[in-house]
Amino acid sequence: MTKHNTIAIIGGGVIGLSIGWQLLRRGKKVDIFERGEAGKSASWVSAGMLAPVSEAGFEEMDLLQLNLASIEQFPRFADELKEDTGIDIDFRTEGTMMIAVDRDQSEHLRRLYEFREKIELPVEWLTGSEAREREPELSPAIKSAVWIPNDYQVDNRKLIHALIEAVKKLNGSLYEQTPVESIETSGKKLTGISANGEHRHYSEVVIANGAWARSIKGLPEDIRPPVRPVKGQILTLRMTDDFTLRKVIRSPEAYFAPKKDGRLIIGATVEEKGFETYPTAGGIKDILESAWEAVPGIYDLPLEEINVGLRPASRDNAPIISDTPLAGLYIATGHYRHGILLTPVTAYEIADLIINGKPSELIQPFSLLRFK
Ligand SMILES: Cc1cc2nc3c(=O)[nH]c(=O)nc-3n(C[C@H](O)[C@H](O)[C@H](O)COP(=O)(O)OP(=O)(O)OC[C@H]3O[C@@H](n4cnc5c(N)ncnc54)[C@H](O)[C@@H]3O)c2cc1C
Repeated sequence: MTKHNTIAIIGGGVIGLSIGWQLLRRGKKVDIFERGEAGKSASWVSAGMLAPVSEAGFEEMDLLQLNLASIEQFPRFADELKEDTGIDIDFRTEGTMMIAVDRDQSEHLRRLYEFREKIELPVEWLTGSEAREREPELSPAIKSAVWIPNDYQVDNRKLIHALIEAVKKLNGSLYEQTPVESIETSGKKLTGISANGEHRHYSEVVIANGAWARSIKGLPEDIRPPVRPVKGQILTLRMTDDFTLRKVIRSPEAYFAPKKDGRLIIGATVEEKGFETYPTAGGIKDILESAWEAVPGIYDLPLEEINVGLRPASRDNAPIISDTPLAGLYIATGHYRHGILLTPVTAYEIADLIINGKPSELIQPFSLLRFK
């Protein structure tokens, strides 16, 4: 089968789907290969927080710029999805509160606050009672909080649903239950992929299969993305009429992402356990204990789901949004804790890169070549 004008995308998570959709929007033909059901891996179990400011790290200025660029693009991205599918992805702008439950946490939070103030991110220091005024479900034990007006959230499951619909509406092909085994080359030339045992010719391929990106065969060692899985256990409770949270709440050991449909996502563990995907008693106990300490009212809420996902993390924990030394081969993975946040910027930038042949300044720090 020869498809010279079609771009193959490996992986049907938010990253692969959104790149495919944006390429379709730019008039390209796209085949997306998903080994299972599209969107049902890390993207599905995610909490959907869009948290560039709360997650800003001391030595991650390039990543902060990328994260800020992506959250700024979210309204346009959500509008385009709605335009193409009619689906609203619940992009919510009620803001985020980082909280401290004891004195040690409060001192740590003060340092995080001062760092954000110094680099001119919008933050506000709150006392415990000021925090409770804004979110009455918080424990009276809360010592202090930082209010972050511009960290938002989205319903990641609606996002997935909308992306699948958008790909179909724009006549993209989504092949589910179709694992890609290898990238095929001839000499130094990309010739296509092998999927379900069948060779398919493509001159342009995007590797976007999350935590599994290293396992695609046929890649020369210097092009193999250094990505590992980082296990995350996460829970879903159901909010009741007499319990409502609206804002995202983050304590050092647990976070809360309340969704419009009444789900309350509480997460998450961060574990280096290879490809292990079962929940553990200890993991769930730790999340619930920390969460209960911050918001005691969760005690009586119905527990609906326990999920485990594998975050794709690169060697330096920053994403790889890049072309490669093999002409026509692109990589979009390693989004780690920010894959939902980084969906718009990754989709726009990879689509532009494929069409213009040149990475923008914004994504140059995220080139595969930094690992040489
Ligand atoms: C518990 C948890 C909470 C999180 N919370 C947040 C959050 O609040 N905000 C945020 O921004 N991010 C969050 N993340 C991170 C985010 O979910 C990920 O970074 C993002 O989903 C990665 O998307 P992806 O498309 O690269 O990977 P995935 O969603 O894992 O998709 C990769 C797909 O590739 C497919 N695949 C694998 N191998 C092959 C193959 N050989 N051939 C074909 N298909 C293949 C898989 O089946 C899978 O569907 C969280 C992650 C976890 C685990």
